[in-house]
Amino acid sequence: MSGNQGNTSPTAGMTASWVAYAAILIVGLLSLFSLYMGFINYADNADIALVYLFIGAAGFAAIGYMLFRSKPATTKAEALEVKKAEVFTTLECPKCQQKRVRDFKRGDYIYKDDEPCTRCDGMMIITKISRKKEEEKKKDESSWL
Ligand SMILES: [Zn+2]
Repeated sequence: MSGNQGNTSPTAGMTASWVAYAAILIVGLLSLFSLYMGFINYADNADIALVYLFIGAAGFAAIGYMLFRSKPATTKAEALEVKKAEVFTTLECPKCQQKRVRDFKRGDYIYKDDEPCTRCDGMMIITKISRKKEEEKKKDESSWL
């Protein structure tokens, strides 16, 4: 007689991500196996083959759902951070036409007298508040010439 009382579940405190990856892997393998069985049996036993194909498709759908669901939580915070840094303010001096671009600050608005001009004694005025293009990088590297 063997008792089954020593049955412990050590995975209870494990990290959730590891369990999720393992689950995705297992479901993926089962789905692949089901699809494989479906294709093999298709010629002989179409009814069983359809069941296998259905199980395989459902498995892949579940994986897709799991991956899709786990995404937005991380990308939302990132997107918000990127948006903060994306806006910039263009200043122009009406006297000497000097232009300057800096990061957007709270309280910036168009036609605001923002800061004194560095070239003349005029005040620079905000002429533009816009979003930065993703691939817009400073070309400081070419200043070696
Ligand atoms: Zn100026």
